[in-house]
Amino acid sequence: MRTQVGIVGAGPAGLLLGHLLHLNGIDSVIVENRDREYVVDRVRAGVLEQGTVDLMRAIGVAAGLDRRGLRHDGVYVSFDGRRHRIDMAELTGGKAITVYGQNEVVRDLIDARIATTRPLYFEAQDVEVGAIDSAAPTIRFRHGDTAHEVRCDVIAGCDGFHGVCRPSIPAGVLAIYERTYPFGWLGILAEAAPSSEELVYTYHDRGFALFSMRSPAITRLYLQVPPDESIERWSDDRIWNEMLTRMTASDGWRPNVGRIVQKGVTPMRSFVAAPMRHGRLFLAGDAAHIVPPTGAKGLNLAASDVLVLARALKAFYESGSAEWLDRYSEICLRRVWKAQRFSWWMTTLLHKLPDETPFDHQRRIADLDYLTSSRAAMTSLAEQYVGLPSEVTFESAGLLH
Ligand SMILES: Cc1cc2nc3c(=O)[nH]c(=O)nc-3n(C[C@H](O)[C@H](O)[C@H](O)COP(=O)(O)OP(=O)(O)OC[C@H]3O[C@@H](n4cnc5c(N)ncnc54)[C@H](O)[C@@H]3O)c2cc1C
Repeated sequence: MRTQVGIVGAGPAGLLLGHLLHLNGIDSVIVENRDREYVVDRVRAGVLEQGTVDLMRAIGVAAGLDRRGLRHDGVYVSFDGRRHRIDMAELTGGKAITVYGQNEVVRDLIDARIATTRPLYFEAQDVEVGAIDSAAPTIRFRHGDTAHEVRCDVIAGCDGFHGVCRPSIPAGVLAIYERTYPFGWLGILAEAAPSSEELVYTYHDRGFALFSMRSPAITRLYLQVPPDESIERWSDDRIWNEMLTRMTASDGWRPNVGRIVQKGVTPMRSFVAAPMRHGRLFLAGDAAHIVPPTGAKGLNLAASDVLVLARALKAFYESGSAEWLDRYSEICLRRVWKAQRFSWWMTTLLHKLPDETPFDHQRRIADLDYLTSSRAAMTSLAEQYVGLPSEVTFESAGLLH
C-alpha cells in the first residue's frame, strides 16, 4: 500500500489527525492493534478544554458532543469541609470546559472515519515502523492472514504511552523527562445521578478525592490510593465509605451513591520525550508525553499536538516546505510543558504525601485558602483549566472544514 501519512493508533490523536488530513485532501492509513469495541469502551478522560470543543465543532464531529456534552462554567475546590466555587467563565471571558467521555469522542471519530471510506485497520498484529530516517518510511503489520506494508511520506506515532513508535527511535536521540508520584487514583463509574453540576476537587486529611460525572445518570469518582494498590482490596462498601468520608462537606453536600459499574487503579506519572520527532516519524499525544490526570490535560494535549501536525503537513503538501514540520516539536513542547507544570501543580496541591509533616499540612491549607480567595489566583487556575491559548489554531492554520 502507498499513502501520504501513515498513522499508528486509533485513539483521540490518531483519529483526529486522520480527520483533519481528510478534510484537507491528504491521504492516510490508520493502523490500530486493538479491536473496535475495546478502543471505544476503554474508560478514560472526560474533560474537554474549550479549544478541543472548538476544534471538534470546526471539523464537523461535534453532533454528539453538542447533544450530550455537559458544559461547566465553574469548578469547586473543597478543603476543611467547605466547597469554594471558581467561576471559570467569568474569569476567562466566557470560556468553559465540557464533560464528554473519551469513549464518546472516540466513537464519534471512528464513525466519521468510516464515513470517509479511508482505510482504518483494527486488530493489526505485529505492528512495526521502519526506515524512519528515509523519505519513504514504512508501517508493517499483519491483518488476519495477510502481511501488509504501507509506504508513507510521513508516519504519525499516535500509539499512546506503550506503543511501538517511540521505542523505534534510536537510543540516545530522545531526552526523557520523568516523574512518578507516590500515589495512584482509584476510579469508579457509578449508576448515580451527579449530585453537583460541576466537578469538586477535594483535599482531605485522608487524601485527595474528585467528584466528576459522565452523563446525567452516571457519576465518576476518584480516590487517592497507594500507587501499587490492588483493586481486589476495595469492596464496593469500602469504596463508598471512603468516598463519603473524604467528600461530604459541612453543608451536607455529598455524592449520590449507586451501583458501581466499573472500577480500577491508575498510577500517576509525568513524562516528556523530546524532541517529538525523528526523521519522518512524528510523535503525538501520549506517545510523546503523559500527565497526571488531576489537570485533565492528556486528551486535550493530544488534540493540540495533531492540530499543529496537520497544519505542518498541509504546508508540506501545498508548498513542499518542511519549515512547519521542522518546527512541530518546538511548538508542541511549549504548550506541553505548560500543561505539565499545571498538572504537576494541581497534583501536588491536592494530594497528601506519605511523609507529610504538620508544617506541610498548614502550608497546603494556606495555599488552598489563597487559591480560593484571591481573584488573581483563581484566574490563573481558570485560564489553565479551560486551556491556555494555542500558537496554532484551526483558523490561523488555514485548515479546511
Ligand atoms: C485511567 C485514565 C484516566 C484518564 N483521565 C483523563 C482525564 O480525566 N482527562 C484527560 O484529559 N486525560 C485523561 N487521561 C489521559 C487520556 O486518556 C490520554 O491522554 C489520551 O487517551 C491520549 O490520546 P492518544 O490518542 O495520544 O493515546 P491513546 O488514547 O492511548 O491511543 C493510542 C492508541 O494506539 C493504540 N496502540 C497502542 N500500541 C499500538 C501498536 N503497537 N500498534 C497499533 N496501535 C497501537 C492503542 O490501542 C490506542 O488505541 C486518562 C488516562 C487514563 C489511562
